[in-house]
Amino acid sequence: MYTHETCPICEGNKFESFLKAVDYTVSQDTFQIVKCISCGFHFTNPIPDEDKIGDYYKSESYISHSSTNRGLINKIYQRVRKHTLKQKLKLVKKWAKGDNVMDIGAGTGHFLSTCQKAGFNVLGLEPDQDARRFAETHLNVKLQPTEELYDLGHNSKDIITMWHVLEHVYHLKKDVKQISKVLKDDGTLIVAVPNMGSFDAQHYGAHWAAYDLPIHLYHFQPKDIANLFDRVNMGVVEILPMKFDSYYVSLLSEKYKDGNMARAFWNGWRSNVKAKNDSYSSQIYILKKKGK
Ligand SMILES: [Zn+2]
Repeated sequence: MYTHETCPICEGNKFESFLKAVDYTVSQDTFQIVKCISCGFHFTNPIPDEDKIGDYYKSESYISHSSTNRGLINKIYQRVRKHTLKQKLKLVKKWAKGDNVMDIGAGTGHFLSTCQKAGFNVLGLEPDQDARRFAETHLNVKLQPTEELYDLGHNSKDIITMWHVLEHVYHLKKDVKQISKVLKDDGTLIVAVPNMGSFDAQHYGAHWAAYDLPIHLYHFQPKDIANLFDRVNMGVVEILPMKFDSYYVSLLSEKYKDGNMARAFWNGWRSNVKAKNDSYSSQIYILKKKGK
């Protein structure tokens, strides 16, 4: 296990315990989330070592790397994914000033395949070798190991996307700095992460599925995203809701709580209704370099 001695964003060294929650998907072990006293950022502490974290991803129900069509939640997920891919492409088209799109944490490559078919020049980074192989064999999308991030030319990408990935990266500030270098000066970074300031997070508490311990290393709120990227001279220009996530996360949370599924839809709906501009279950942050 690795223990953060300083806050991954502000490097403050005083934390308070925020909550303890169980890893419901793989190990059934308990992990802790702490809150930084200086900047208010919440992060998992301690965390599994980087070379051990893979074990915590090995769950049959970890659907983002699978394309099986079993079970209610998976079925809903597949249906929603189709719709979501269209929405993501729309967003890329809206912000792209050129055709170079890079996706970090590309998974099985479905998003990049969608971009490629729309005429974009795509590059994907993905740590999981099986996922890379899947993307190449089934979708004709070539993915590279994540370390490639540090070999890319500066000022070379028009759009960089991270769909539910930033909460997984070990070297948060180092990677963010490198991403800001690889991005063109007039480029756009699109980051989607769960929002622990949402209604469903508060409602489910330790059962909130998007805490997803221990593989979610960080638990962002809008102010944390602003604070983190401000340090590399980037700012949030728009925040967009991911409205399906509140249903999906509520479904999983009810499953962990042993509750009923109808209540998940009710809470998913309530979460969206109660959300103001920046308090949805999961959100997309559009980021640009400042003064550009
Ligand atoms: Zn801090």
